[in-house]
Amino acid sequence: MHLSKDDSQPTFNCTNRTKEPADAHAPRCRLQPAAFCLRTGIAAAALCLLANGNENNADAASPPPAAATATDPAAHAPHARLSSDDTSGKMEHMSHTEHDLTKEKDQLWQAQQHAYERALLLTKKPLQEVFSEKEIAEAFSQTITLFIGCMDERVPCPPGMKKIGIGGSGALLTDAQLELFVSSLKELGFTIGFVSDHDGCGACKLYCQQHDLPPEQAPAVAKDTAHKVAMKIGVSEQHIGFDQMEGHADIHHARAITIDCCGNFRPNQLGLPSTFELTDAVYPDSAQLEAELNVAVSIALGDHGMGAKRFDVTQGGEPLLLILVENPKNPERTAAINKIVDKVAANYPNAIKVIRLQAPASAK
Ligand SMILES: [Zn+2]
Repeated sequence: MHLSKDDSQPTFNCTNRTKEPADAHAPRCRLQPAAFCLRTGIAAAALCLLANGNENNADAASPPPAAATATDPAAHAPHARLSSDDTSGKMEHMSHTEHDLTKEKDQLWQAQQHAYERALLLTKKPLQEVFSEKEIAEAFSQTITLFIGCMDERVPCPPGMKKIGIGGSGALLTDAQLELFVSSLKELGFTIGFVSDHDGCGACKLYCQQHDLPPEQAPAVAKDTAHKVAMKIGVSEQHIGFDQMEGHADIHHARAITIDCCGNFRPNQLGLPSTFELTDAVYPDSAQLEAELNVAVSIALGDHGMGAKRFDVTQGGEPLLLILVENPKNPERTAAINKIVDKVAANYPNAIKVIRLQAPASAK
């Protein structure tokens, strides 16, 4: 771990977490090296859905995002696994049979079942009827310290902090967008602790793909982005290694994607299932939010995620949750994001369920 400037600052420690049900994300902290899904972004993530031999029977999936095109050369790239270099030299490369991965996925899926079922109650009841006042107050706490991290569900949130989730900590933003992102961060008015990058960041691999850089450059892109954002804000950087991440290096285990229009919502305080986190409140524009939401959906439903079949209700699955945290203080933006969420969900009618949370008036 790269130490922050402030030694008293919370750091990543898999054994020291905020309150969550015991089974919420188990099994934890046993990341193994090898392939990583976010790596190839929209095009290849969609390819995951279409790939032959997908153990989740991808043919049953709803259409891939419109952003994925058959003409994209990346869509024809082999599903290369990470080299040992990509694992910070700390872990040995290991291969997994399809059978091993299916078993791992089953365990990761089941470990979240209780949290998932509780979250599902939110489709029928308001937040206040499912969670206690204390839980809700903590989930929308006004006394948090932010850190900027990848939307990747395996990048954990240290106790007392809130992850500002965005692909690659902002790696996919243009310079102009980055300025807006940093301004929005400052406008949120919370203390900002640090900016992180993480091992195996697929958003940074997507950046490489978009800029004709070799995928081996992705760790450098991740580090540079974190450095750039940290300098603009005036905070430190931290690198999050595989050994500090949740879940499994080969598998995206998220059963939810959270889009936070408030900027201070902390899903782990409600014990929600493992979730990609897109903090809409700091996205520079809704188009970027939509693009990164499509990436997250494609990953979750792809063969490096839990896979299409597990989410497909027509095959006995349980849908991926798109949890939209609406901001009562910004109805215009909330309405715009609602439209995007509906549009994305409409592409996967059998595999996505939308949950809308009304943030309490005291939220940001
Ligand atoms: Zn990442």
